[in-house]
Amino acid sequence: MAAITLRHIVKQYGDGFPAVNDVSLDIADGEFVILVGPSGCGKSTLLRMIVGLEDITSGDLEIGGRRVNEVAPKDRQLAMVFQNYALYPHLTVFENIAFPLRLRKSEFSEEQIKQKVEAAAATLELGEHLQRKPANLSGGQRQRVAMGRAIVREAEAFLFDEPLSNLDAKLRGQMRTEISRMQRRMGTTTVYVTHDQTEAMTLGDRVAVLRRGVLQQVASPRALYEQP
Ligand code: ADP
Ligand code: ADP
Repeated sequence: MAAITLRHIVKQYGDGFPAVNDVSLDIADGEFVILVGPSGCGKSTLLRMIVGLEDITSGDLEIGGRRVNEVAPKDRQLAMVFQNYALYPHLTVFENIAFPLRLRKSEFSEEQIKQKVEAAAATLELGEHLQRKPANLSGGQRQRVAMGRAIVREAEAFLFDEPLSNLDAKLRGQMRTEISRMQRRMGTTTVYVTHDQTEAMTLGDRVAVLRRGVLQQVASPRALYEQP
């Protein structure tokens, strides 16, 4: 059973050309799928429909075998990492990472929250920064806090929307390695939007190419980028 199944997914804003046009794709459990394509081709829209921030005009979306078209984002068991991190500036690193757990208040004791946050922070080497505020962190550290917030949810899948595009080249390289290691260790299904060919080649099991809302090609990075 696929972790995420898209069946004839369409998104129509107003009465223009569909932003996402009849996209079908099976994403296997534990698979890392990269979504690439020119600006405006529908990458963000597709990601936002999967996570539930955008209504689906037509088609079926299944997560873990369950149809979720009408399921609220918080009940989809997905974790999204945005380009701009979307951290809460007034909260410490600890509280930023704990935030999704506190949303499900009755589920976790304070002790469990502490354990989960500290485990995620250790994975991301943020253990020494838990009491800091985002303003006092580097770009790479902020990025890791955003990922920590995704990790603690123990989500069915991670969704990344150009998570490294605001970082300089050196940090991007480090974070690429970090994400790759994390994914191998955790084996979590991942959909990752990027403009960066290096990220597409090094991180993905498969690369899906979107153009004007249409899925053009889905192939291994090798087949896609090393063909003559
Ligand atoms: P990408 O992420 O690949 O840059 P988007 O998914 O942001 O592309 O956009 C796909 C298309 O849908 C673009 O033509 C964009 O202008 C349009 N679009 C995106 N969001 C909206 C919206 N909220 N309302 C109307 N049109 C939108
Ligand atoms: P990106 O290139 O990262 O997708 P955009 O600048 O295209 O970013 O879009 C930023 C936000 O604006 C998104 O939330 C998108 O849904 C929205 N948006 C994009 N195009 C339009 C549009 N034509 N009308 C209304 N909202 C839009």
